[in-house]
Amino acid sequence: MQDISQGYFVERALLPNGWADNVRFTVQDGYINTIVSDSEKQYEDILLSGPVLPTIANLHSHAFQRVMAGVAEVSLDPNDSFWSWRDLMYKVVQKLTPNDARVIATYLYIEMLKAGYSQVGEFHYLHHAQGGQAYDQPAEMAMQLLQAADVSGIGLTLLPVLYSHSGFGAQMPNAGQTRFINTSDSYLNLHRNCEKAILNYGRQNDIHKLGICFHSLRAVTKNQIETVLESLSATIPIHIHIAEQQKEVQDCLNWSGLRPVQWLHNEIGLTERWCLVHATHLDAHELNAIASSQAVAGLCPTTEANLGDGIFPAVAYEKAKGRWGIGSDSHVSLSIVEELRTLEYSQRLRDQQRNRLYQATQNHVGDHLFQQALLGGNQACDVALGLAVGHRADFMVLDSKHPFIGASENKDLLNRWIFSCNENLIKDVFVAGRQIIQNFHHEHEESSREAFMRVIKKVIYD
Ligand code: ZN
Repeated sequence: MQDISQGYFVERALLPNGWADNVRFTVQDGYINTIVSDSEKQYEDILLSGPVLPTIANLHSHAFQRVMAGVAEVSLDPNDSFWSWRDLMYKVVQKLTPNDARVIATYLYIEMLKAGYSQVGEFHYLHHAQGGQAYDQPAEMAMQLLQAADVSGIGLTLLPVLYSHSGFGAQMPNAGQTRFINTSDSYLNLHRNCEKAILNYGRQNDIHKLGICFHSLRAVTKNQIETVLESLSATIPIHIHIAEQQKEVQDCLNWSGLRPVQWLHNEIGLTERWCLVHATHLDAHELNAIASSQAVAGLCPTTEANLGDGIFPAVAYEKAKGRWGIGSDSHVSLSIVEELRTLEYSQRLRDQQRNRLYQATQNHVGDHLFQQALLGGNQACDVALGLAVGHRADFMVLDSKHPFIGASENKDLLNRWIFSCNENLIKDVFVAGRQIIQNFHHEHEESSREAFMRVIKKVIYD
């Protein structure tokens, strides 16, 4: 069925080249097919009530981890670390049923949409039943995520993870990891089943995408990476966790004599298909290798701060013209504002200077951060978001009743929003031309919230 074209009019909108006034755009079949600034509202146009921004692709998510957000902020040991957090995460993993996973993801994705993310890269490694037995349908857990995405209306970039080992040099998996483990062959079978499942979901606009994912260099061998890359599509994105923790860097050095990014660059080769999640600990050579390959660094500033990972060298990386996007990862925060602000502030705190991330052609930090996160998220999640002809019609409307939104000139608007507003000011969200969030509300919000509360009580407090 051919959709008729719908016109929209807004006083100001953020286009790829910056803010424009009196913007009229039309949407057909879920895509933007015309966009004109300095225009006039036409009679049947929908008038959008505040500044319009593109939504952003959230490039790194482990949906189930939302259920434990905030629970690990208890000091049990003076040396609490990423690795003690991971022990708690493994205990939660053992309890989750497919139904629990879907309930958690459904409410999470609704919260993401309310936060201005309209696509999510789901780094999905919880594949098997409790005890490690594969489900009859290998993509059972992935299908729960697809159902959650469809109920919420978000686009899913499904990244089924290959996870085989517990440490560098093909170490045997440990007991906490049994639900994650595949061989290369069982992974390729899972991947085929995910591909089929995607065709059955996503009612419109090719909204769900598929990628390839290796958990980390700890979890796969060189031979496995090569086998998988040779067997699957040569165009889809490839994600991996890398260089998140100093211990991982040291273990990689002990095993191979190379640092993790150096190893990946030398032994496999980086291209723009890669999304290197975290990439926190880089030497100058590694930093330049990522930047010149045009791979995306998948930064997760609030999770990296929460886990005490370290500070990504964003100033040097941007000088090398490196690409990056943002992910909410463990979901201690669902806020584009907080991710971007945390990234910029981490650089200021380290350097004892202000205004660290900007370009000669864009010295407004907020505008620069937002546009970079948009481009990096698109590349890593295999989508084209942003207000331009031919792009999926995903956009959000900020609340012009807030004084900093309503009264600010265009040049200050993103800085005001990102650096001085803590309340959620995203009033309406559209995905593929369909309004998903209306006046801060999602149609399935109440029922999904109650189901999520029951799962929190069961998984964390029973
Ligand atoms: Zn992660």
